[in-house]
Amino acid sequence: MMIVMQDGSTDEQVAGVVEKLHEVGAEAHLSRGEFKTIIGAIGDRERISQIPFEAMPGVDSVIPIMRPYKLVSREFHPEGTVVKVGPALLGGDTFVVIAGPCAVESEEQLISSAKAAKAAGASILRGGAFKPRTSPYSFQGLGEEGLKLLAEARRVTGLPVVTEIVDVRDVDLVCGYADMLQVGARNMQNFLLLQEVGMQEKPVMLKRGLSNTVEELLMAAEYVVRGGNTQVVLCERGIRTFETATRNTLDLSSVPLVKHVSHLPIIVDPSHATGKHELIAPLCKGALAVGADGVMVEMHPDPKAALCDGPQSLSFEEFSRMMEELRTIAPPLGKKM
Ligand code: PEP
Ligand code: MN
Repeated sequence: MMIVMQDGSTDEQVAGVVEKLHEVGAEAHLSRGEFKTIIGAIGDRERISQIPFEAMPGVDSVIPIMRPYKLVSREFHPEGTVVKVGPALLGGDTFVVIAGPCAVESEEQLISSAKAAKAAGASILRGGAFKPRTSPYSFQGLGEEGLKLLAEARRVTGLPVVTEIVDVRDVDLVCGYADMLQVGARNMQNFLLLQEVGMQEKPVMLKRGLSNTVEELLMAAEYVVRGGNTQVVLCERGIRTFETATRNTLDLSSVPLVKHVSHLPIIVDPSHATGKHELIAPLCKGALAVGADGVMVEMHPDPKAALCDGPQSLSFEEFSRMMEELRTIAPPLGKKM
């Protein structure tokens, strides 16, 4: 449930409520907005409801949160969360573009991609060092060597980097190099990994699972936020349907839906959603139009030679053309670029 404090309530009054919650073994999660301070109470419902909150000084009202997710719900935090990744802000009025190769393959491949991404106006560089592949015989990524190259690309271009973490044992290693931790679609319900990244100080990009509902995505985000890490960005990357013409089916409706029920930023990944480079620009425009906070796209100096996801990777030229188109349509759609 949520304890809504009166406008102008003091820190002492807030602390009083938090203390009462701790006394009954409940967790108190504070959301201090510009207008409202809300305390999310999580724990034994019976014991919490015995506390006479409404009689406590500074308390305005007590409201139950009906949705299964609490901390990520918009009721709990009415203002949108803005997630900071280096100088980039996700969830504000800027449409953030994350770009880079599917996998880090070599110094030349990554540095040239980073420079092209930066030159065309991307704000964050992506690149997988640990690649969860469908086949165990496919390229699995360069591991730590790939992380080192990402750090080098950041040094050269100034772009912050996001990379996937696939194993709880790699948390310290990946945190040592990355600016943002990516939890991939296949790990969306790896609850131990979610708990682990929830205890880190790095922002997290949580991708929707191939066969997961929006509610399950939000429940997964709840695991991360409950650990104390509120810096979570959701990513719609397409879901499995009967359609085989595209790799997955991009569920653009999840974007305004998530915006309605949650305060977390959400971006769209049309690369993994479609598997086709020719569909990336139109769907980035769609993402912008439905209110996404940004997109993540794959690009490669030579898509045909890519070790991973070549058919969905943009050439540098395609990427730069798409960025120009997005910059033209962003302002009328209420976004800066
Ligand atoms: C990726 O973005 O590198 C990736 C593997 O995507 P997903 O987890 O969405 O399949
Ligand atoms: Mn990929």
